[in-house]
Amino acid sequence: MHPITEAIRIQTERTRQMEHASPLFLTSSFVFDSAEEMRAAFADENDDNIYSRFSNPTVQEFVDRLCALEGAEAGFATASGMSAVFASFLSFLKKGDHLISCNAIFGSTHTIITKYLPKFGIEYSYVPTGDQDAWESAIRPNTKMIYIETPTNPGLDIIDLEWVGKLAMKNKILLNVDNCFATPVNQRPLDYGADLIVHSATKWIDGQGRVLGGAILGRKELIHEVYLFCRSTGPALSPFNAWVLSKSLETLDVRMERHSSNALYIAEKLENHPHLSWLKYPYLPSHLQYAIALRQMKNGGGIICFELKGGLESGRKFMDNLKMLSRTANLGDTRSIASHPASTTHAKLTEEERMAVNISPGLIRISVGLEHREDILQDILQTLDHC
Ligand SMILES: *Cc1c(COP(=O)(O)O)cnc(C)c1O
Repeated sequence: MHPITEAIRIQTERTRQMEHASPLFLTSSFVFDSAEEMRAAFADENDDNIYSRFSNPTVQEFVDRLCALEGAEAGFATASGMSAVFASFLSFLKKGDHLISCNAIFGSTHTIITKYLPKFGIEYSYVPTGDQDAWESAIRPNTKMIYIETPTNPGLDIIDLEWVGKLAMKNKILLNVDNCFATPVNQRPLDYGADLIVHSATKWIDGQGRVLGGAILGRKELIHEVYLFCRSTGPALSPFNAWVLSKSLETLDVRMERHSSNALYIAEKLENHPHLSWLKYPYLPSHLQYAIALRQMKNGGGIICFELKGGLESGRKFMDNLKMLSRTANLGDTRSIASHPASTTHAKLTEEERMAVNISPGLIRISVGLEHREDILQDILQTLDHC
């Protein structure tokens, strides 16, 4: 072969020894030895990989590991949490169907439900998180899916998974749970009758603020529908990101244990601080749904939220005087992060709209990292002195 051709065609053969780290299949497509092999793959007669929009071994390793943690039969990994949420809706909902969602949900999920689903003729109702009667009466003959987050972002309300699982089953409605905040090492919604799990892997699953990713998990026949939707519409996770995320899953359990114990320690120390009107953390006895949190979550998780008595102005001062905690929109990092939703993510809403989703003017959300707990606490205490 010509050197130019060799420079393109020479390729490392698989060695006899296995690599200790997982191999990374950074490829868009896969080759076949014959026309017959290729025909069989396209006819779904075997599990051969064809094209990385459909499947990829590195991505599959990440999916298999996440399925093991969630107790799921199957899954499909996506480029972001939002593409997972969108695909989980469009794979199962059609014109004339009705979706029920808890009212406190991630901002972009709210945009999909209110702005884009109606374009497809899909109806929706929002229900206050804690009002069980309202959930029952929101169900219509055409209700096809219940969508929830628990704990909610940023308010940390807890929905009773056992109760909502039974409600969905009794009415033959798909229960779809965004399990991003708890992660599968803290909470497994499928054990309570959930049909689908969506994840933003960008948060605790990566846990190190490096890559975007997402996933949808559930029973085989449901995930086959998701696969068909995603295979054609193309939200596939990059193999490189899957390689990063797969390695991250090896430490998820120990990381979440430390995030949670750091968060509990800080929540206990701050709970009665004179500048706060309230503080919420699922594993504090003062949390309204403490008993439910203890039952369905193995740990309280890494997020704390609280309300500053001084409102909007104090919120800004809190953010400005931080010395170590990062001011950034992400959460679920090794580095502790503070955010002030009223002046950032929810600044475009009116005061009234903000209150409807429980974003009060002095609300601060802390994503507790893996730094030494005293350093995190001291930074919060010193900035609180300015509020
Ligand atoms: C961040 C987040 C998402 C969206 O995930 P991306 O990876 O940013 O697309 C969805 N749900 C929750 C609860 C989140 O925190």
